Amino acid sequence: MKIHFLGTAAAEGWPGMFCRCEFCQKAKELGGKNIRTRSSAIIDNILKIDFPPDTYHHVLRDKIDLAAIEYLFITHTHSDHFLPTDIQNRSPVMAHGVDRPLHIYGHDLVIQGCKASINYRQELYELHHIQPFRCVQVDERTKVTPLIADHDKHETCLLYFIEKDDKAILYGHDTGWFPFETWEWLEGKSFDLAILDCTGGPLPGRRNHMNNEAVIEMNDIFRQKAMLREGGIVIATHFSHNGGMLHEELERFFSRYDILVAYDGMVYHV
Ligand SMILES: [Zn+2]
Ligand SMILES: [Zn+2]
Ligand SMILES: [Zn+2]
Repeated sequence: MKIHFLGTAAAEGWPGMFCRCEFCQKAKELGGKNIRTRSSAIIDNILKIDFPPDTYHHVLRDKIDLAAIEYLFITHTHSDHFLPTDIQNRSPVMAHGVDRPLHIYGHDLVIQGCKASINYRQELYELHHIQPFRCVQVDERTKVTPLIADHDKHETCLLYFIEKDDKAILYGHDTGWFPFETWEWLEGKSFDLAILDCTGGPLPGRRNHMNNEAVIEMNDIFRQKAMLREGGIVIATHFSHNGGMLHEELERFFSRYDILVAYDGMVYHV
């Protein structure tokens, strides 16, 4: 599987849209991998996770054919992950040459949000209301199981276990330390890649979002329990200026644990 990271920041982006803090100033000066937009990724050019407000920028920056995306999985409806009004741009007369439906998968609020914002046409959009721990067969080769995150007590926020052929990816940010039910489901499972929430950086706390320490601890658990397959890796993502660690610092810090640090535009193959 090919994983293309489109954005790797928390809600405000890094540099933050309105922020004057020293870490946003530094990111602006240094540029490159320190410029982080709102989080999303594409798998094998056809399956996308989340639709953030920076999607149009991602299309321009990485020359993405967004019409080629057939499956869109939404983790939760926070504004940095879900902008349904922009999905509407897939409809005529805003888009030409789009001939297949976009399958959108999400929980109640996602489905409601799509219905309210998209001029819904069956031939162009298919909405799939998914439930935690119920596996979805996406195509003949791909299945996705939504798992529960600890992120927002007012919403069922999801992370995803994505399996294709003999490969598997655990895709999780905006998760906090996983709730018991998710650990229970993961028991005995193995995967080639885990993408984890590192919003807090060196700051304390692992409820709602994770931090450096929680990412390292999860990496240890995955390795000790052989959940991470041979050659498997953890990639940290969803960074915030509040953590204050710029890309090179993050790389230096995490290299000791064999953990990779995501950056915008990064492509990884499993
Ligand atoms: Zn987020
Ligand atoms: Zn800042
Ligand atoms: Zn969120």
